Amino acid sequence: MTVTNWARNVVFQAGQVRRPSSVDELRTMVAGSARVRALGTGHSFNELADTEGELVSVAGLPPVAEIDREAATVRVTAGTRYGELATTLHAAGFALPNLGSLPHISVGGACATGTHGSGRRNGNLATAVAALELVTGTGDLLTLDRTDDRFPGAAVHLGSLGVVTHLTLDLVPTFEIRQYVYDGLPAASVRGCFDEVLDAAYSVSLFTSWSGRGIDQVWVKSTDGDGFAAPARWHGAELADSPRHPIGSMSPVHCTAQQGVAGPWHERLPHFRLDFTPSSGDELQSEFFMPRESAPAAYAALEPIAPLIAPVLQISEIRTVAADDLWLSPAYGRDSVAFHFTWIADAAAVAPVLAAVEQALSPFTPRPHWGKVFSLDPAQVRAAYPRLPDFLDLRAALDPQGRFRNPFTDRYLH
Ligand SMILES: Cc1cc2nc3c(=O)[nH]c(=O)nc-3n(C[C@H](O)[C@H](O)[C@H](O)COP(=O)(O)OP(=O)(O)OC[C@H]3O[C@@H](n4cnc5c(N)ncnc54)[C@H](O)[C@@H]3O)c2cc1C
Repeated sequence: MTVTNWARNVVFQAGQVRRPSSVDELRTMVAGSARVRALGTGHSFNELADTEGELVSVAGLPPVAEIDREAATVRVTAGTRYGELATTLHAAGFALPNLGSLPHISVGGACATGTHGSGRRNGNLATAVAALELVTGTGDLLTLDRTDDRFPGAAVHLGSLGVVTHLTLDLVPTFEIRQYVYDGLPAASVRGCFDEVLDAAYSVSLFTSWSGRGIDQVWVKSTDGDGFAAPARWHGAELADSPRHPIGSMSPVHCTAQQGVAGPWHERLPHFRLDFTPSSGDELQSEFFMPRESAPAAYAALEPIAPLIAPVLQISEIRTVAADDLWLSPAYGRDSVAFHFTWIADAAAVAPVLAAVEQALSPFTPRPHWGKVFSLDPAQVRAAYPRLPDFLDLRAALDPQGRFRNPFTDRYLH
């Protein structure tokens, strides 16, 4: 049998995914495997989840969503998908502070890579993790929470410290969002008013096809508190008169409701609806995080190679992520801007363009998204993470026999 990732550009070496139905069964499995790796929902675009040994999913563990109203937390099985969890939380009067663009991904897999949405004050999804329970390389069950010095090293872990069985996440009271889309933000507004545009509301995304006409669409996700007035014309962009898909040729029926109709957080923060294919479904993705203040310069650095980018691109998205203290988080220690690229599904055609993008962004110390395609020099990636040596010590302590190592982590972490 062949097991692939969601994008089908990675065929995993393991011919099957094992699904233990209890934590004890998982512990026995880990302890008996020379090499093992957890697979979430397989939405990463590279070999991060691959292993020469056993591929294991925690989706077979008994589902759990225990809300602690007093502490405002929820304890969930790591295999839970955000879309499913969100419905339960909203019904109980709670919300997560932010979500990625799609609700289909598992909580465990998303936090493992530092998956993020957008918003000046919004950290990536791993910043909502208050505790995690994992089966380590010795087969032991370990709980790490924020009182533990090792916790900042473990919240974004790339699957290298163990198999996470459960996570406890911080909650906020449920809230409503109004989503507006603007067409045609001139490039000059990106260069001149970047902060004003990106900070105008709770979460803002810029979509561009690098066609030379600036930003194609601005998606504004506004809460009552941020006071976004939704003018018809804004920084030279026009309020859209009908729903949009970020990829102009695709149907907006895949997307969450727009045109200022108020709705619960989980039906507005992701761009895509749980019951539809997210994005285009036939694609590769790359993304680079840089210090937020370098956004206008990074944008300007890409403009000269726009004619190279556009032919192999479906759409590009620019978002912001708040700084955090998680050692392997792409937003570690710096408020960040993230430049994302949804490429056509042709790795050979994309490779030279990706290299040109990486070269153009190199002056801004880019950190690649751990779950997307990149070709940066491993030494450059390692140098961007000052706490990597501490992470490697933590990994040596929790996985002394290297069960969770794979060629990808050997290359980028050592
Ligand atoms: C259409 C699409 C849209 C996307 N949009 C966004 C976005 O808006 N923002 C963003 O940041 N990213 C985005 N991504 C990337 C995606 O969110 C990340 O790659 C994420 O890590 C995928 O989660 P997953 O559950 O599929 O994990 P997988 O890809 O299955 O695994 C990722 C890593 O997590 C580890 N892992 C998974 N489960 C466990 C576990 N239980 N215990 C230990 N380790 C585990 C794996 O070993 C691997 O190292 C998108 C991807 C797609 C396909």
